[in-house]
Amino acid sequence: MIEVKENISLKALNTFGLDVKARYLASLHQADDLMPLLNRFRHVPVLFLGEGSNVLFLEDFEGLVILNRLEGEIEILDQQEESIHIAVPGGMHWHDVVNHTVERGWQGIETLALIPGKAGTAPFQNIGAYGSELADVLTACHVIDTETGQNMRLTKDQCGFGYRDSLFKRRPGRYFIHRLELRLFPGRAPQVRYRALENYLNDQGITRPDIKDVFRAVVEIRRAKLPDPAVTGNAGSFFKNPVVGREHYDRLAQAYPGLPAYPAGNDRIKIPAGWLIDRAGWKGFREGDAGVHPKQALVLVNYGNATGFQIYKLAQRIMADVFDRYGISLEPEVRIIRNAAKQNR
Ligand SMILES: Cc1cc2nc3c(=O)[nH]c(=O)nc-3n(C[C@H](O)[C@H](O)[C@H](O)COP(=O)(O)OP(=O)(O)OC[C@H]3O[C@@H](n4cnc5c(N)ncnc54)[C@H](O)[C@@H]3O)c2cc1C
Repeated sequence: MIEVKENISLKALNTFGLDVKARYLASLHQADDLMPLLNRFRHVPVLFLGEGSNVLFLEDFEGLVILNRLEGEIEILDQQEESIHIAVPGGMHWHDVVNHTVERGWQGIETLALIPGKAGTAPFQNIGAYGSELADVLTACHVIDTETGQNMRLTKDQCGFGYRDSLFKRRPGRYFIHRLELRLFPGRAPQVRYRALENYLNDQGITRPDIKDVFRAVVEIRRAKLPDPAVTGNAGSFFKNPVVGREHYDRLAQAYPGLPAYPAGNDRIKIPAGWLIDRAGWKGFREGDAGVHPKQALVLVNYGNATGFQIYKLAQRIMADVFDRYGISLEPEVRIIRNAAKQNR
């Protein structure tokens, strides 16, 4: 039977470094142990946790936190001349998955290097960076439906992926993801679809990069650009980039020359939230130990002893200001864990 600890600090288990407690905490090493564990704790709320790099705890969690510590190795399911189909255990650190594939020359996830978190969490918000997202290569997710106890293989279409979105994010706690299937491309040249990445490679004199060049460039850019949670608590981008209609964009572009924009399909335009927040003067703002990173307006930080509420209050002030200035409602990308009684079930 899985050991369950009581009243355990989660400070080292969330990258904001928030000093909250879990009423109960268990580590899951085998997916088969999940349902017996849940059946013992039907009376309390449950929260799955990978590496805690995309959550903001507002208070102690008065339920059971289940840490994904699933064991296993990457498996080759099928290999053809031009593509390889692999299965990835959910407990692997995502960056180790990227490393493993890049070392073998399998193209597909090299731009997703250095994103913190577990492989099993990657589909939750369809992780993405530098012009790619997980859904580009994911073919299926193996999940346990916690309502029925059924082990299911959901195809990519069934996962309902969107921009930093999925079925799993819309129904948190319903499905526990324990295995992914990815289709990658041995020997294929990488597609560099992101201007900053292209410029970085050009500056290095690399005009025809291979996947190792792209991987290295992404790692170097991220290390230079993003605060390391081991030094300053943060959860990466706090907000999603908003998508607006053409008319709204045109009005803003007139008022704010130089407003960056990316086509998002159907005459809709994606605007970088970081630009809006920076332009509104929030970059480097600090109140107590809660702040906006001085180099990255999209990243909220905990300088040491901020509470989740203080960071959340700051996020709300930024959201209200951005709405007043630009008529845009920002949406947090980070999952806010507020009242244990309302979590999951
Ligand atoms: C410095 C930094 C940079 C980042 N950069 C990026 C980036 O470039 N792109 C990007 O997309 N994200 C980025 N992130 C966010 C984060 O790394 C990803 O969202 C990552 O996938 C979270 O993984 P995790 O294991 O830490 O999730 P956690 O924070 O532990 O959990 C996140 C959510 O997923 C749920 N969950 C966890 N495990 C499971 C499971 N097995 N089944 C079902 N639900 C589960 C949790 O309940 C929670 O709601 C960054 C974060 C940081 C700190």
